Amino acid sequence: MPDTLPDLLNAVLAFRDERHWAQFHGLKHLMVSLCLEAAEVLELSQWKSDAETDALPLSPEGYEALSDECADVFAYLLLIADKANIDLGAALRRKLAKNALKYPIEKSIGRREKYSQL
Ligand SMILES: [Mg+2]
Repeated sequence: MPDTLPDLLNAVLAFRDERHWAQFHGLKHLMVSLCLEAAEVLELSQWKSDAETDALPLSPEGYEALSDECADVFAYLLLIADKANIDLGAALRRKLAKNALKYPIEKSIGRREKYSQL
């Protein structure tokens, strides 16, 4: 059976708590860390063409590097949501509903402009 978000959060919290790191995990520090890890995802494309970046997950090394950085981002996202009592699943559903109003299919299909320019 696949992990649920609570399973994954519990694994991250256990990892943190075994190391007594909760003391360092104020919300601001978690937000900073999320952005730093997101930058590490982006770093994987530094100096690469679009095609080279698209090919990254096709090699075992590239796949591992990208999945490691995605996991780091995911871990901090889970910690932020836990700290702020955010139900990530519900938050995503709510935001998708908001985005659907901003980007109605008939106006946005096949277009990349921001909602304010549609
Ligand atoms: Mg990282």
